[in-house]
Amino acid sequence: MTMLRVGEHHAFEAANRRYLYLVPSAAVFALDAPAAALIDALDAAPATRTDLISRVSAQFPRTDLGGLLAELEQIHAVQPVPTPAPKTPTIIPLTPVTPFPLTTAVLNVTNQCNLSCGYCYEYSEDKIVDTTNGKQPKFMTDETARQSIDLLFRESGEVAVVHVSFFGGETLMNYPVLSRAVPYAKAQAAAYGKRVEFNLTTNATLLTPKMIAFLADEDISVTVSIDGPREMQNRFRVFHDGSGSYDVMLPRVQELLRRHRSRPIGARVTLTSQVSDVLGIYRHLTDEIGFQEVGFAPVTTSPDRDHALDASGFDQMVTQFTALADEFLQAALAGRHHGFSNVSETLGEIHKGVSKAYPCGAGLGLIGVSTGGDVALCHRFAGSEEHGLGSVSAGLDRDAQRAFLERNHIGHKTDCHTCWARPLCSGGCYHEAHTRYGSTTHPNLHYCDWIREWTDICLRIYGEIAERSPSFLDRFDA
Ligand code: SF4
Ligand code: SF4
Repeated sequence: MTMLRVGEHHAFEAANRRYLYLVPSAAVFALDAPAAALIDALDAAPATRTDLISRVSAQFPRTDLGGLLAELEQIHAVQPVPTPAPKTPTIIPLTPVTPFPLTTAVLNVTNQCNLSCGYCYEYSEDKIVDTTNGKQPKFMTDETARQSIDLLFRESGEVAVVHVSFFGGETLMNYPVLSRAVPYAKAQAAAYGKRVEFNLTTNATLLTPKMIAFLADEDISVTVSIDGPREMQNRFRVFHDGSGSYDVMLPRVQELLRRHRSRPIGARVTLTSQVSDVLGIYRHLTDEIGFQEVGFAPVTTSPDRDHALDASGFDQMVTQFTALADEFLQAALAGRHHGFSNVSETLGEIHKGVSKAYPCGAGLGLIGVSTGGDVALCHRFAGSEEHGLGSVSAGLDRDAQRAFLERNHIGHKTDCHTCWARPLCSGGCYHEAHTRYGSTTHPNLHYCDWIREWTDICLRIYGEIAERSPSFLDRFDA
């Protein structure tokens, strides 16, 4: 007689309903009362089909419990108990599909910066590539930028839209090259019959009216690295002489926001032990400066640095994220925009049923290109020989890519195999893992608690919105 059990899941409640997040399929299901009773009964103890139905039938005499159980089995919310029972769920390492098409090239157009932010991996022992004495040139040339774009289109397969991101150092220190790369990429897109989109990350201190006009006219998405009000911005984001950057950055950002309306201009905030007032920073950046989107990320650093977030720092961050996420929910229910992009990004992934074998696109559909044209996993590894994937002149090294993808598959991260948050986390950022543990293959176990707490918060928001204002979720269908 087959014994049944509940499938691997995370249970949560939203809008007075019970939900299951089913881990293997990354699907979200609302349970009605009879389905919840079947799940609870099985959660208490595995049972045969007949026993289970008889246990629950007194409570729901008019429900077709057999049919309902069959539906729960169909979605793998209920499964046969395997014999013999494995200790942990088995994740079979799959050979990645290669050649995987490229969708995004991040061009490190310079490794130089006019700021020396105290937490930047470029200026600490955390840095991977020696940009001061190493072999990489300080600035990317026109030819390397064009070759990077050629490589992206050549390796993009059937992908209809490709993305070119400009990154640094301070990206605008090589404005001439990036401004010429944009029309070149558009011409290549026309030749290939594809669309190209652009993104640029900047500290905004070098923005000029001419650059702002260019960014607006060329429809380039902009992300500004910024840490909040003056005292917070000036805590780490300083010029080489130690002076704060707030007063230089502010008028330029205001002009950018005034002039560039075709795309939401995003702010990206780095949280440290000293800069952690999420709510205050959010208010300042949205209400006082006018950003439409604000995203927060904890600093990437080894744990012994002063600015590293410790366990209590992560707790404080989650508390503030929760408060801001609740504001997001209230705004969504009222049909208003809210710019807390950490929520919208996670909701989008939940809605699409994203289940990741890899934490991000690095080395998969996304590559980073160093100033000298070496290709690596992403912009943070650009120029690292250990993490190289060829060069823009010699081409993408598909063997190195395949070896990287095989080594870094979630199937090898045994610590993650019993974690219900793995469809969305998949071990976390490779750069963070390399900084903390010395290897991209290591899961970021220092932030598991907060990842799970954050994922649970977003699942509950998703459930509330799905129940009370489902049309809001249409935006994630694209
Ligand atoms: S790193 Fe932690 S939170 Fe992320 S999937 Fe692995 S165990 Fe889960
Ligand atoms: S490895 Fe980290 S920094 Fe690089 S793309 Fe992935 S998440 Fe971003």
